[in-house]
Amino acid sequence: MVRAGRGPREAVAARARRRLVDLVRFARARCALYRDLYRGVRDTDFPLESLPPVTRADLEGRFDAWVADPEAGRKSVEAFVADEAALGRLYLDRYLVFATSGTAGRPFVFLHDRAAARVYLALLAVRRLPSLAGLEVARSLAREGGRAATVVTTGGHFASSVIEALARRLLPRLAARNRVFSLFAPLPDLVRELEAFRPAVLGSYATVLFVLAGERAAGRLRIRPGLVLSGAERLSPEARAQIEAAFGCPVRDTYAASEFPGIAFDCRAGRLHVNADWVILEAVDAAGRPVPPGVPSHTTLLTNLANRVAPLIRYDLGDSVTFCPDPCPCKSPLPAVRVEGRRDEVLSLAGAAGEATPLFPLVLATVMEATPGLRAYQVIRRGPARLLLRLEEAPGHDRSAVCAEAVRRLRAYLASQGLGEAAVEVAKERPRREERGGKLRQFFAEG
Ligand SMILES: [Zn+2]
Repeated sequence: MVRAGRGPREAVAARARRRLVDLVRFARARCALYRDLYRGVRDTDFPLESLPPVTRADLEGRFDAWVADPEAGRKSVEAFVADEAALGRLYLDRYLVFATSGTAGRPFVFLHDRAAARVYLALLAVRRLPSLAGLEVARSLAREGGRAATVVTTGGHFASSVIEALARRLLPRLAARNRVFSLFAPLPDLVRELEAFRPAVLGSYATVLFVLAGERAAGRLRIRPGLVLSGAERLSPEARAQIEAAFGCPVRDTYAASEFPGIAFDCRAGRLHVNADWVILEAVDAAGRPVPPGVPSHTTLLTNLANRVAPLIRYDLGDSVTFCPDPCPCKSPLPAVRVEGRRDEVLSLAGAAGEATPLFPLVLATVMEATPGLRAYQVIRRGPARLLLRLEEAPGHDRSAVCAEAVRRLRAYLASQGLGEAAVEVAKERPRREERGGKLRQFFAEG
């Protein structure tokens, strides 16, 4: 890994190619889904583009044919993630499971084997941690007792919660200094708790960090972290600058997903470098054709070269990325990308006393996507105390029951944030895709 990180570019690509050939051979031999899909593909000298892409729906529909271990199955893994007490344990004593909120109220899960977990950890150790250590960070760590705060959505086997729980079990002394703060808490409570904890390192999603930076700038939050870590959402240069200015420390970014926890790490020049020896990212247009560097893609195909148990080969990630056309000043041989990602907004409603109360996209997504039978949705802010929902039920589900349940869940969440008075209405029309790109924006203000 160290050698590959020094280049040249061609050597990185050659490593990836060798791993791809091995992975495809394995997937054809052990997963019925890929055996069927690759029937017309050559054995070893196939071009990457000749492998048909897969979507989440393809994998969801044939879960047991996708997974390479016959002992692992859809039913038992769903039971595993339904058990909160299993957080931090390995499924079948050998697999990491990252759940995402999925569709129609059923979670979707990604299994990762031990060899893959070793690769993810090594990438962190070799390519992430050394680039974070600086004098300022060390000073702050010493001043604040090395405490780290992670502010995330909780209450499920989400990747961040799973990793935290595992660390707590395997590295208890280190984990004792790290505390998880739930985004389900109202903002004033979260601010108060962070204030009392005084973290040296603050980690969260870009939208949350942006709001916390606002609290810091307004003087309501007075923590002095030496390092802010952003992940899971797109961090724009403007947001990065404002967060850095508010906290007076560097912000570092990771492109992470349940499909591959460390797709790219940013360098000191602020660019995200893809760990291209272990994960292949392809920027493609709506027809699946490659788009050149400098052009934002319609979606991105991801191939995880580290994991065998549930192979992801040319998997449609749904993100829009742009490969940087010019070389990075840091001279890394790893290609750099800009993640366009989701274009969701932090909706802000007025509380009982008129105070602005933020609703974070990832938290709203967790609330909405747990609704049984809900296939697609949009949450639209129509005024300081009014939300409009566009909902679509999954086939075979009763529309009025699904809508009522979605409204009930959203209202309960709003009440927990002191927004019990806000109006929630269901529109007659179904969720509408944007004309450009065809993506579903889930949270936005209108009117
Ligand atoms: Zn760079």
